[in-house]
Amino acid sequence: MTTETTTPDARAQKRPAISFEFFPPKTEEMERGLWDVVTRLAPLNPNFVSVTYGAGGSTRERTHSTIARILGETKLTPAAHLTCVAATKGDIDEVVDRYHDVGVRHIVALRGDPTTGIGTRYAAHPEGYQQSSDLVAAIKRNHPDMEVSVSAYPEKHPESKSLDADIDALKAKVDAGATRAITQFFFDNDLYYRYLDRVRAAGITIPIVPGILPVQNFKLAKNFATRAGATIPDWLEAKFEGLDDDADTRRLVAATVAAGQVQKLAKQGVENFHFYTMNRADLVFAISHLLGIRPNSTQKAA
Ligand code: FAD
Repeated sequence: MTTETTTPDARAQKRPAISFEFFPPKTEEMERGLWDVVTRLAPLNPNFVSVTYGAGGSTRERTHSTIARILGETKLTPAAHLTCVAATKGDIDEVVDRYHDVGVRHIVALRGDPTTGIGTRYAAHPEGYQQSSDLVAAIKRNHPDMEVSVSAYPEKHPESKSLDADIDALKAKVDAGATRAITQFFFDNDLYYRYLDRVRAAGITIPIVPGILPVQNFKLAKNFATRAGATIPDWLEAKFEGLDDDADTRRLVAATVAAGQVQKLAKQGVENFHFYTMNRADLVFAISHLLGIRPNSTQKAA
């Protein structure tokens, strides 16, 4: 198994780098909620916070205004997600130009899901970017100072023929200029370790940052996992059994499970964590605390 660091002593002194993912709020009430979450998590000094882009560009303006507010009202570094779905190259370039104009210097570049629904065949817009590596290349060509992160799939992307094909796609994105990959969430760390070994064997050297989903709602997580092609281990299902109507215990179990997962990863030398916050602060704050992160402590550069 590949670890990403040197000695246990050096590890003990290092503070992991963390990042948080939010989705753009739909209503004013959700926006107030998100702002409370941002305010609570900001003192943890994440490396960056990212804001997702709705299917087919459906949240384009909301993603932009959330990013603009983060830039205008906090010291956080935002990363804007962007997909190739249902848009011409010109439209997408314009979105990137707009981000660049307001000071955004980090894009999470994705192909996106088919507009006809997950599981159906993806068809690129005839005048659009055909795959995510083309989007990465265009962003780097038009704005060389833009940092570009991409996705990675320890259990392979559901549409992919094989893990090797998936790793080839990752390599194409790295060759196009991506400097960080964030994984789909997973619950079995061995899947990540095995994936990392194969990625490194393929000559890919960029950080492969584990995406961590604290399970706030097991039914919802199971639904996400089915769509994302991620496995829910039996032991995880067993831990949430009988807790459907017991939110307090669910929260404690969720914190224990996710804290255990990140602590084991950290012990193996993983230094970067990306949290899918689902716009909730408590679990992520507690898990970060257990990783040794304290408000206003210094962030190690990732
Ligand atoms: P890619 O990695 O580009 O490709 C998916 C698969 O297609 C590959 O794994 C490969 O099998 C095949 N493929 C693609 N190109 C090639 C090639 N050149 N050669 C061979 N095979 C190829 N969705 C949203 O709508 N909005 C978001 O904000 C969003 N954020 C995400 C953030 C993260 C960290 C992750 C992991 C996913 C996110 N998604 C988001 C979901 C993502 O859009 C879907 O999983 C989508 O189906 C694939 O997009 P991708 O960029 O991950 O795919």
